[in-house]
Amino acid sequence: MKPIRKTSLRFTVILTFCLFSASSFAEPEHCHYSTYQWNVNEKRAVGYREVVKPYSEIIALERDELTGCTVCEEDQQWVQVGDLPAVRLCKRYARDVEATLNQLLGEGFPIWKLVGYRVGMTRGDLDADGNRTAFSNHSFGIALDINDEQNGLYDQCITVSDQCRLRKGGAWSAEQEGSLTADSEIVLRMKDLGFRWGGEIAGRQKDFMHFSPTGY
Ligand SMILES: [Zn+2]
Repeated sequence: MKPIRKTSLRFTVILTFCLFSASSFAEPEHCHYSTYQWNVNEKRAVGYREVVKPYSEIIALERDELTGCTVCEEDQQWVQVGDLPAVRLCKRYARDVEATLNQLLGEGFPIWKLVGYRVGMTRGDLDADGNRTAFSNHSFGIALDINDEQNGLYDQCITVSDQCRLRKGGAWSAEQEGSLTADSEIVLRMKDLGFRWGGEIAGRQKDFMHFSPTGY
């Protein structure tokens, strides 16, 4: 091979790599999302609205500090697991979660229902009207719920016992098919991907369906 061809081949490889990198990591032009606020007085979602803004104008509140994932639809990717309805997750996690859950499904583990990206202010301080003012981890596409009908969200639940009060989803039971436990293969493999499980977080709440980088 002549030297000149070697140089041009190397140049082509570098150029291709640069173009690929740029298209993978370039910021989108716009940020679009639909959101609401949870009102603790009325116990319902209020203030539904659509947000469209230049991506460069995203504020701190709209980005998860730990992962860099945002509330923008532009930062989410579709995740297709078996023939379940597709869900969206932050592109940082989407491909790994999709591959892992499809593998688990193929091995016969029960994955029956998923909830991923869903934007809403359901956490944080209250404003004067009783509205929550911080986005949940589902809002950034960094939380995934698995089998909510067998893995409810409980409060008054420092430790798992009959005292725990079911607030959302269906009742959890360690023996029930589809329920998750600390040694479920689904829980172990989600942890391998950097997620924590809401069934073993500290505090009064246990969210057995829920996975996120912090578990909350
Ligand atoms: Zn959740």
